[in-house]
Amino acid sequence: MFDLLIKNATLTDGQTGVDIACKDGKIAAVEAGITAEAAEVIDAGGQLVSPPFVDPHFHMDATLSLGTPRMNVSGTLLEGIALWGELKPIQTVDDIVARALRYCELAVAKGIGAIRSHVDTCDDELKGVQALLQVRAQVKDYLDLQLVAFPQDGVLRDPTAMQNTIRALDMGVDVVGGIPHFERTMAEGAESVRLLCEIAAKRGLMVDMHCDESDDPQSRHIETLACETQRLGLNGRVAGSHLTSMHSMDNYYVSKLIPLMVEAGVHAIPNPLINIMLQGRHDSYPKRRGQTRVRELRDAGITVGFGSDCVMDPWYSLGKADMLDVAFMGLHVGQLSSRADMAWCFDAVTENSARIMGLQGYGVAKGCAANFVLLQATDPIEAIRLRAHRLAVVRKGRVIARSNPVIHEVNLGAGQKPLDEARVPFVSEGPDPVISGGIRDSRFE
Ligand SMILES: [Zn+2]
Repeated sequence: MFDLLIKNATLTDGQTGVDIACKDGKIAAVEAGITAEAAEVIDAGGQLVSPPFVDPHFHMDATLSLGTPRMNVSGTLLEGIALWGELKPIQTVDDIVARALRYCELAVAKGIGAIRSHVDTCDDELKGVQALLQVRAQVKDYLDLQLVAFPQDGVLRDPTAMQNTIRALDMGVDVVGGIPHFERTMAEGAESVRLLCEIAAKRGLMVDMHCDESDDPQSRHIETLACETQRLGLNGRVAGSHLTSMHSMDNYYVSKLIPLMVEAGVHAIPNPLINIMLQGRHDSYPKRRGQTRVRELRDAGITVGFGSDCVMDPWYSLGKADMLDVAFMGLHVGQLSSRADMAWCFDAVTENSARIMGLQGYGVAKGCAANFVLLQATDPIEAIRLRAHRLAVVRKGRVIARSNPVIHEVNLGAGQKPLDEARVPFVSEGPDPVISGGIRDSRFE
């Protein structure tokens, strides 16, 4: 007898009519026509079952603090950092824990199964670190929380940041972070990348740096990050978050940079909602978008995962733990509009991000952890189009969140009629174009 059986699901690869059987926290079978009994049976009705959403870049120590102690008036990254500096001394460990746990509940309801959260280490009391280590332990049965030691004020610029970052790693924080573009000089930025990568290499840890989060085309710390990754043999364990300056770099330089990143196996984590909101603030018109070169990075073979970065904090007033909002924005800003490109945006908030975080047993396949989401949509593109409702969220074979389908009741004079937004069939007018939309990019030819 199975613990849970999902009947008649559609998978993200397009397979339809699939049953998914779960036993002892794992997926025991994924095939058509499973007839064995189960403690609970859910009829998916042909709708999409996806592996959980994965958020590879977040700030859980700051989330849901909007308005405390004031709002960000200019809307810039720098005022956000200053405002966070005002909040840090007045918040308590308990405040951070309470906000983070509230956010974890929202995230689970929205089908997020794993979050990589940066945690500020520029605080002699390490309140955020204490709080999020506690939260990581508390949520582990329903959410994988990976923590990044993040010296927000600069590991060299802030006098105690280096020792506090090392203390945080000693306390059990998982990943080494950094912010080279916020150090005093380009040279100190490069030095910070070198020192932090050496710490990661020595401890056998992954690296994820806020890297070149600016509109300055001369901010080229990603080059140093790729180089240090190669030098220290950290290939596949390093991610560059944001990389917005790449938007403004000249094409010739980028034609050298991207192959360096490929060689080093560096991953990229753009944060579409935040990048489009914070970048280009010094421009009049034309105004830059500030999202990194998603299509070019992907086409070169770099793993690209979209992060949400912020929800209701000093940098961003909106957000609702919805990775489909993130995919929707990334798709628009990156002009990823072909069917293949849109489907890829779904991968950017699921399997690509899982790969960046190094998650084990991820996927809807026999032997994987029984973690998945049933969506009110029939394919990944429709899921993004509708920011589809989550009907059931399953973790280790147990339903941990569920909701009724959203059905509108429409009455246009001929009586009341139910309307399900998700049931609009897609009629293909020909074969899907090849990945990257069939548009040739002559810049790299
Ligand atoms: Zn961030």
